[in-house]
Amino acid sequence: MSDDVIRVGDLVVVVKGHPCCGNAEFVGKLFKVEQIGTFECECHDCGRVFSSETVFSSWSFRELGSLVKKIKPLDENVEDAVLVPEVVGV
Ligand SMILES: [Zn+2]
Repeated sequence: MSDDVIRVGDLVVVVKGHPCCGNAEFVGKLFKVEQIGTFECECHDCGRVFSSETVFSSWSFRELGSLVKKIKPLDENVEDAVLVPEVVGV
């Protein structure tokens, strides 16, 4: 599936620094989207407030939608995984 639309409940990761000052302290942070809207989102580094962009928010963290990427469902490939239980000491 190439469905990159981010919806509530999706797991996303911050992949880019802020467009204002390049602050990348949260690059690599994973969070689950609980709300989507145009919430105010302040840069922790330079203090710029973004107020007209789509923002993805969890209960404790929010980030500009343009800086995050959706993570594919982590169980997507479980059926393809080769799970060989190792039998020890029978
Ligand atoms: Zn900034």
